[in-house]
Amino acid sequence: MRRFEGAVAVVTGAGSGLGRASAQRLAAEGANVVAVDVNTDAVLDVVASLPTPGIHVTADVSDEDAVDAYMAAGIEAFGQIDLFHLNAGIFGSFAPIPDLTVDDFERVMAVNVRGQFLGLRAALRHYRDRDVGGSIVFTASIAGHRGSADLLPYQTSKHAVTGLVHGAAMYGGPLGVRVNGVAPGIVPTELFAAAATTRGGGNDMTARAATTPLRRAGTPEDIAGVVAFLLSDDAAYTTGEIVTADGGASIVNTVRP
Ligand code: NAD
Repeated sequence: MRRFEGAVAVVTGAGSGLGRASAQRLAAEGANVVAVDVNTDAVLDVVASLPTPGIHVTADVSDEDAVDAYMAAGIEAFGQIDLFHLNAGIFGSFAPIPDLTVDDFERVMAVNVRGQFLGLRAALRHYRDRDVGGSIVFTASIAGHRGSADLLPYQTSKHAVTGLVHGAAMYGGPLGVRVNGVAPGIVPTELFAAAATTRGGGNDMTARAATTPLRRAGTPEDIAGVVAFLLSDDAAYTTGEIVTADGGASIVNTVRP
């Protein structure tokens, strides 16, 4: 499929994991990619792997000026931006709630909520100016629908992403702008490797993934397929939706599995 021929896609957190796979999938379907990440080496590497023209921008998505800078760089390079995958995110602290510091909490909110808001606002300003419609996909999480005792800042931030999707879909609909999210389950990436180390041996991700209906962890490519669908015209009548991609983990009745 070449659903994005001639389109330009911004992908944040493109240097690793889900963002890297998304950049590669969108490029494989014809998009030129503006690959944004705080890690310059990683994002240079992903741009070098793309089959279409791409640029890298080193930017911290929680920094308002840096968001303006990646928008300007993309527009200078390609003239316009058609698609956004707002994906960059961090786990942050796993401390028990009474031990969390304000900094622990605010660090996660800065990247996962303020960063997503700034990307959304920039995208909607651009779409409003162009007046040709558009599509935005956030990386949400099943943590945005569930609770974990040791993941408070992260899960709070992902619940907030649901709010961004719903509000932006309401604003964007009349402009022809669709806004959706993908909620991955267990996908072994650098983010999850860090979590496994921090949380200790009782939380082996692969073992837990083996208990889900599909009996395996997800791959970044599994998630990129959903992102590409939601960004494409195949999802032309879908907005305000968070699509879960978790191997069925969320449907398990944990009281009587
Ligand atoms: P990852 O750590 O492999 O990749 C995240 C990328 O984002 C890295 O390249 C990192 O440098 C970049 N990044 C981090 N902070 C940034 C910032 N402030 N500005 C710009 N770039 C920044 O992690 P991943 O698993 O690919 O996670 C991507 C997204 O997917 C996150 O929003 C995460 O919450 C979400 N998610 C992941 C999983 C999973 O199982 N891996 C599950 C649910 C949701």
